[in-house]
Amino acid sequence: MSQSKNIPEKVTVIGLGLMGATLARLLINQGYSVTVWNRTAEKSEQLVREGAILASSAAEAISASPFVVVCVYDYKATNEILNSEEAVSALNGKTIIQLTTGSPQEARETEIWAREQGADYVDGAILAAPNQMGKPDTIILVSGAEKAFQKSEKVLKILGGKITNLGGEIGSASAMDLAILSYTYGAALGFFHGARISESENIPVDSFGALVADFSPTIGEFLKYESNVIRKEDYTASESPIRISVEAVERILQTAQESGINTEFPIFAAGIFRQAKAAGYENEELAALIKVFRRQANAETVKGGKNA
Ligand code: NAP
Repeated sequence: MSQSKNIPEKVTVIGLGLMGATLARLLINQGYSVTVWNRTAEKSEQLVREGAILASSAAEAISASPFVVVCVYDYKATNEILNSEEAVSALNGKTIIQLTTGSPQEARETEIWAREQGADYVDGAILAAPNQMGKPDTIILVSGAEKAFQKSEKVLKILGGKITNLGGEIGSASAMDLAILSYTYGAALGFFHGARISESENIPVDSFGALVADFSPTIGEFLKYESNVIRKEDYTASESPIRISVEAVERILQTAQESGINTEFPIFAAGIFRQAKAAGYENEELAALIKVFRRQANAETVKGGKNA
């Protein structure tokens, strides 16, 4: 870090849960002067031994530094902490780096509120567990006004080596976080069904887990390719036509029925692929599945809207 005349730069961290305490520690270890505040003050004790300064109130913590990193349970907690008369009066001229998980709408509302208090606001989403923070490949998604991002970048880079700036629309970091979580939970559901296939065939589940880890970079590259197909809107089969997946998913369902294991996941997946087949996408690239998802959303929300 750059320090002028050996005076450490100041950062405040509000929220000392598993993640917030990790963020504070990383900053202390890089020589920052870190002021901390947590609703339950006892959680600061170890950090104070490591060099943190404990503020007696959130307002005092905000006053102590130009940067205020917030990492609490949710936006409701954020509001309870920042939206008191004393805290608000300390916010003018500060840069809030919000690393609490939230929705795009919550980020939009908080940015407007922060501006009203005279504060800059960067919204971030952490794509890592506490023990993975501060590494060269730790991803933190950020969005917000360029001026706020530029000011915060140095602090953010201590927390994660791969700061991914998604631009000025403040909701983008939360939106991309949710998109990644959607992918993660979708994959996790498939994983647990796969674990049941392994169990029912007496294959050790940890062998399956190891295979999943080996296969993950390949599927990641494949899905990246499919995202480019969607972007170009050219669904000519080029790598994997939908008909192959229609058969594969029917086989997963059939095997679950034959083995007497839970069929919920393959029934859901087969339902989507059957819709793609019925819509005539069978011979198109797998990415054409997006048209089924677009249609479902339209059917539910926009009567007579643009379909696939
Ligand atoms: P945590 O260990 O459960 O800590 C929650 C923090 O929020 C504590 O500091 C808690 O204070 C505070 N808090 C909760 N309700 C509050 C309220 N009403 N008023 C004031 N403070 C309140 O959670 P965490 O793991 O640190 O996660 C913090 C954020 O990081 C979450 O938004 C989470 O989604 C995000 N995140 C976490 C991970 C992870 O793996 N842990 C990964 C990515 C993102 P007390 O100590 O007083 O209860």
